[in-house]
Amino acid sequence: MELGKTNLRVSEAGFGGIPIIRLSVDDAVKVLRHAYDNGITFYDTANMYRDSEAKIGQALAPVRDKVVIATKTIRRDADGLRENLEKSLRMLKTDYVDLYQFHQVASDAEWNKIKQEGGAWEEAQKAKAQGKIRFLGVTSHNLLMAIKLARTELFSTVQFPFNFIETEAKDELHAYARRKGMGIIAMKPFAGGVIDKAVLAFKYLRQFPNLVPIPGFDSVKSVDEIVSIYDQPNVVSDQDVESMNMYRLELGRKFCRRCEYCQPCPNGVMITAAMSYPIVASRMSPKISVQFLKVPMESTQKCTECGECLERCPYELPIPEILKKHYDLFETHRAGSG
Ligand code: SF4
Ligand code: SF4
Repeated sequence: MELGKTNLRVSEAGFGGIPIIRLSVDDAVKVLRHAYDNGITFYDTANMYRDSEAKIGQALAPVRDKVVIATKTIRRDADGLRENLEKSLRMLKTDYVDLYQFHQVASDAEWNKIKQEGGAWEEAQKAKAQGKIRFLGVTSHNLLMAIKLARTELFSTVQFPFNFIETEAKDELHAYARRKGMGIIAMKPFAGGVIDKAVLAFKYLRQFPNLVPIPGFDSVKSVDEIVSIYDQPNVVSDQDVESMNMYRLELGRKFCRRCEYCQPCPNGVMITAAMSYPIVASRMSPKISVQFLKVPMESTQKCTECGECLERCPYELPIPEILKKHYDLFETHRAGSG
């Protein structure tokens, strides 16, 4: 399928680059090559996913011209983007990135930094003119922001969480993106791990045209499981709809969507990152997550339970209570990895 109007041709499902972080280099290369051999041609990673880019580079450099590689930068200034992009190119063993995305743009303030003089946007345009970037995209967990960014008409793709529990993107964001010919990339097809039935997850996603889900893979078996789903025509039965509704009922108000509406915390608690601790630990490994989320997890100790975030969370999550549980888990992992 085509990724929006980019004329980049990609497989119906892509490869999300987070879970390979917890694999050895040899195992990651094996999984990546298996994905490629089984028809997966779209690989999404990020500068901040530790050695994910390096593993992708090692596995796919020999078939570089047959795959579409997307990566991301979290930096908002020109120097930062240049530094990140050069590192990505080195790690990925390539001289161009097909799709370069501004990672997790959550607020107007961040977007303004990107767009201001000396900001990352300027540098991205230079890199594009030099042929180091083919297309620009954006990712966000904040729906209002994602819609606003899509409406700028500056991006070729938009990436947002989408699965049968987190369905919010399908109306305004996806409808707008389709109308404008933007590529739609669906991150978190398993809602960050809370949907444990791959077939059900993909039955839902395959109902939507021109949308590329990017499940993360950590084994040859997990690649086979998803690839085999695409070998069958998609049929969503009443029972499937019922099962999805059961999940929604059970999980709908129990997990954090990373929308960032609860922030900022007056005491500097990095709420969203800390709320995702167990998911990150299961995707990256406890040992790595302890280092990766050290700062946000330690910031939870500044929570005074003032309740400001509670009023702002649209899902009515008991944030301070959850943060305490996650901190305990973090401490257990830290003790175990020391
Ligand atoms: S309850 Fe805690 S985390 Fe929430 S805003 Fe107050 S101090 Fe911050
Ligand atoms: S705690 Fe609530 S408001 Fe904050 S990121 Fe999660 S879902 Fe959004």
